[in-house]
Amino acid sequence: MLSARNLEVVYDDVVLALRGVSLEVPEGKIVALLGSNGAGKTTLLRALTGLLGIHEGAVTKGGVDLDGKPLHRTSPEKIVKNGVRQVLEGRRVFVELSIEENLKVGAHTARPQMADNLERVYGLFPVLAERRGKVAGYLSGGEQQMLAIGRAMMSDPRYLLLDEPTLGLAPLMVEAIRDVILEINRTGTSVLLVEQNATMALSVADHGYVMETGRVVMDKPAAALLRDDDVREFYLGLH
Ligand code: ATP
Repeated sequence: MLSARNLEVVYDDVVLALRGVSLEVPEGKIVALLGSNGAGKTTLLRALTGLLGIHEGAVTKGGVDLDGKPLHRTSPEKIVKNGVRQVLEGRRVFVELSIEENLKVGAHTARPQMADNLERVYGLFPVLAERRGKVAGYLSGGEQQMLAIGRAMMSDPRYLLLDEPTLGLAPLMVEAIRDVILEINRTGTSVLLVEQNATMALSVADHGYVMETGRVVMDKPAAALLRDDDVREFYLGLH
């Protein structure tokens, strides 16, 4: 289990980005994290993966645990080695490198595992396999998102944290990313999914959290969130 315990994060001594946030990603599950812009979702992901450097912000209270042991103050590299991996918002691929080179950059593993992981990632994303030698800059936005997820999967993480993977993608591509998330989870990786597309996120998730201005305001099974009147009105656009 990956968990945040009563996390408080302050940027530049003024912006209280997280105000005592607790969240759990149980082994084997998909957890959705919803919330409007500025609610603190990205800050929470960055706290979970150790990316909140001292220059940018500080965890002033609480901590992050993996299997009950504190991860707080562990370096981002070590957190990846411990099996927690994040795909940042936006498609940060190396546009001048080939697809395969991009994937190898993500490996963090010894050569024999790298070959196995490459095959597994190509199995997840046949579209990347077909074009493995091509330069990543020629991929569409959705394909670049797949490459970004594929690169994270190269370290065979136990926990995958995704920050708005379907942002700006066409419906068919959203479907493809949704299928990939389900397949990644089916093969043993737990997922924390930050999404603006609440319909998609709650359709794959076991559990969901809703954040508002640095706080968790809802913490329920995904099916219950889908039935909740406020969630239906504000996040699903239903009445
Ligand atoms: P979005 O969907 O827009 O990414 P979010 O829910 O991910 O929003 P965060 O990006 O975590 O929210 O931002 C939470 C709060 O912290 C906001 O008020 C934001 O302006 C502030 N913030 C985020 N990053 C920084 C930073 N590096 N320095 C100062 N303030 C920041």
